[in-house]
Amino acid sequence: MRKTLRLLFVEDAEDDALLVVRQLRRGHFDVEFQRVDTADALTGALDQQTWDMVISDHSMPRLNGTEALEIVKKSGHDIPFIFVSGTIGEDTAVAAMKAGAHDYVMKGNLKRLVPAVERELREAENRRQRKQSDEGLRYLAYHDVVTALPNYTFFSERLEQAILAAQHDQNQVALLIMKVNGFKEINEMLGQRMAEILLKQVGQRLREELDTAYTPACLQGNEFAALLPSLRDVDEASQAARAILKCLESPFILEGLKLGIQANFGIAYFPQHGKSAEFLIQRARVALSAAQKDHRDYAVYSPEQAQGGVDQLTLIHDLRRAIIESQLFLLYQPKVDLRGGRIVGAEALLRWKHSEFGLITPDRFIPLAERTGLIMPLTLWVLHEALHQCKVWNAENRHLTTAVNLSTWNLIAAELPDQIGGLLDSTKVTPSELTLEITESAIMVNPDLALRNVSRMKNMGLRFSIDDFGTGYSSLAYLSRFPIDEIKIDKSFVMNMTTKREDAVIVRSTIDLGHNLGVKVVAEGVEDRKTLDLLVELGCDAAQGYYFSRPLPAQELLVLLTESGGFLTDGTRTILSPKIDDLEEITCT
Ligand code: C2E
Ligand code: CA
Ligand code: CA
Repeated sequence: MRKTLRLLFVEDAEDDALLVVRQLRRGHFDVEFQRVDTADALTGALDQQTWDMVISDHSMPRLNGTEALEIVKKSGHDIPFIFVSGTIGEDTAVAAMKAGAHDYVMKGNLKRLVPAVERELREAENRRQRKQSDEGLRYLAYHDVVTALPNYTFFSERLEQAILAAQHDQNQVALLIMKVNGFKEINEMLGQRMAEILLKQVGQRLREELDTAYTPACLQGNEFAALLPSLRDVDEASQAARAILKCLESPFILEGLKLGIQANFGIAYFPQHGKSAEFLIQRARVALSAAQKDHRDYAVYSPEQAQGGVDQLTLIHDLRRAIIESQLFLLYQPKVDLRGGRIVGAEALLRWKHSEFGLITPDRFIPLAERTGLIMPLTLWVLHEALHQCKVWNAENRHLTTAVNLSTWNLIAAELPDQIGGLLDSTKVTPSELTLEITESAIMVNPDLALRNVSRMKNMGLRFSIDDFGTGYSSLAYLSRFPIDEIKIDKSFVMNMTTKREDAVIVRSTIDLGHNLGVKVVAEGVEDRKTLDLLVELGCDAAQGYYFSRPLPAQELLVLLTESGGFLTDGTRTILSPKIDDLEEITCT
């Protein structure tokens, strides 16, 4: 089918335009065109309809070509712009291209016209598709995948804006956070798919109940939120909570199954309970926990609710300074090849030595960092540190692959591959010496984005490992769509494999399946000889665990490498220094 080409001419001579049209028709285009030769007429034509292409003369009495190009660019439409002129010289042509014209063709040599037009139409289509996919990515970055509601990023930006406006108008803002009661049980009993259908429907009811000015959002999983930007009176928030509860009252139908749900709310106010979005969200979460605990529909934040050891808010606040004040450090746990006992790698594990509370383990502060956007700088710090260490080992001729753990948000951050590329360049570490450990649950937050990022980094030469394997829901067959090199069987199976038959079966079948898919299998959490022997018998490739060594400071690992000659077991003998076994507890330097 011939395509109709909607052509806008900027041309003072009708005959010249017709010549071009004839040439294009000969080249199998159906051409519809309009001709203008003043700035106003050009602007008017651009506003009036969409054009596939602008063809412009260069020197005309009432408008010159450069001005015409400027007008088209300013219009914001991405329309290919080609000069067709008799007078244009080489220099002017080059200048025109630099100014943004897509091509120029001499009037005396119209042979070039059809291929140039075809090419520029193709390019414009490519640009359009790229733009569409960029917009798609932007959408994903700001929306929850399951409910299609605004996500944490979107919501906290809105909340930040509402706070600024309220500061200006001396107003109050209320923040509501809601969770479906017993959602975990629903998920376990009915499965993830049904649970997602439920979340979708809850999201839909919130959307119907709440005006968009309230920014109904899904912050994560089963955590919904709304904000009341300019509060008239404080009861308004509890009224909103009651209205939402009412709209959730009628049962949900999940593929024919009728399900009634209950929900709890936590409420926090600006300025009483916090002056930033992050603080308010945190405090509304604290209030929500209190409401859940006391089986109340909603609770308003009060400082007494924030118990449970160190106040999380204090920790978040301190974590920001931890990087700058060098309170963070890495320990390295050796990874041992089970065929020869050679130490082939080391996993970097993060520690925080808090000036007041002492040593804090990553299980406590990584989730905080994830929730507050601090995870990106934190991970970059870890990568930077670990790659420098890798370089030091290289210089000592100890070639170890260094493994770094990525968290959920790292995995879908579009900028991560470039950032890692930069770090690799500056440290001159070979990409294959860096393994990134990712978990299945992190992948599942957004498999498409994760795959895109992992593939990019895989192409850069990095290695990938699936951490905590066996704890999630997806099959290895699904995960093998990702270009992974290794899986790590979660320590919960490994630690019990000599006493629990089911765990031994899981370990055995994971090893076999891994090998069938051509990936290496690592067992983590090896704490005794018996487990090690069984893993060797099952053909597991490598192992990590307290039996070989606890995570050690880099310097201590070097000592271990030297003392052991780089081998921790020869299959019958294990070199294990008790001094090193206790090191983790005494490393807070
Ligand atoms: P993981 O990646 O599964 O790390 C293994 C954890 O098991 C480490 O705990 C390690 O100390 C511990 N472990 C090693 N061998 C044994 C053993 O034989 N028995 C037992 N019971 N445990 C063993 P750690 O260092 O407390 O780290 C906990 C989790 O924190 C890590 O789990 C990882 O998910 C996360 N994490 C640690 N460092 C980082 C980091 O730099 N970035 C991110 N995003 N997460 C990190
Ligand atoms: Ca890990
Ligand atoms: Ca693990």
